[in-house]
Amino acid sequence: MRKIAIISDFDGTISRRDIGHHFFGTFIPDRERWLELLEQWRMGLISSRECLEHEMTLVRADREDLDVFVNGESIDPYFKDFIDFCERRSIVVLITSDGLDYYIDRLLMRFGLGYLEFNANRLRLADTALEGVEFPYFNAMECTRCGNCKRFHLEKLKSKGYLTVYVGNGYSDRCPAEHADIVLAKGELLDHCRAQRIAHIQFENFRDVERELTSRFILHSGNISL
Ligand SMILES: [Zn+2]
Repeated sequence: MRKIAIISDFDGTISRRDIGHHFFGTFIPDRERWLELLEQWRMGLISSRECLEHEMTLVRADREDLDVFVNGESIDPYFKDFIDFCERRSIVVLITSDGLDYYIDRLLMRFGLGYLEFNANRLRLADTALEGVEFPYFNAMECTRCGNCKRFHLEKLKSKGYLTVYVGNGYSDRCPAEHADIVLAKGELLDHCRAQRIAHIQFENFRDVERELTSRFILHSGNISL
């Protein structure tokens, strides 16, 4: 029996839409340049750090625009139940994101989940201006693909003896998915797992995650039997 940690992506996994992506898509007037950046990132020519730094220089919005935008966003309707499920079993939950801390914090707070532990890149604000982005977890020695490499946080839990369950949907979930004990995937991550023959479980929402964990594994208080 081993203790379990759930490590989950935020954008498009916990939040319904990829908030960072849609925010930049709405507030970057130079659409051509933005799409070009995204293409370079998808092809692996630039890291997500370089991509985010560029996006921040192109964005034409202030804090109020961002707040209004985030107020229109929502989370997976089953996520709160899933957190209750984890809390009843003392299962550790960590949210890890290569997006921006500001909107993650706001959205979690709005749904009464502001106490959840998360890590992300840091939006730098000066009064109402969006000044830039900082990368407190960036480590070029470990990974050159990500701004906040989720694998680093996953490995830390692994080294503490946790069995790691990774939940994600996108390009930035490739690093951790290659190292997690159990992977739950949808979207681009699902395509990647299929293409790379990474063992995974398909899911659509957090009710599926809960159901898959309980049906496939025997869950005890904070522990798992495979
Ligand atoms: Zn990485």
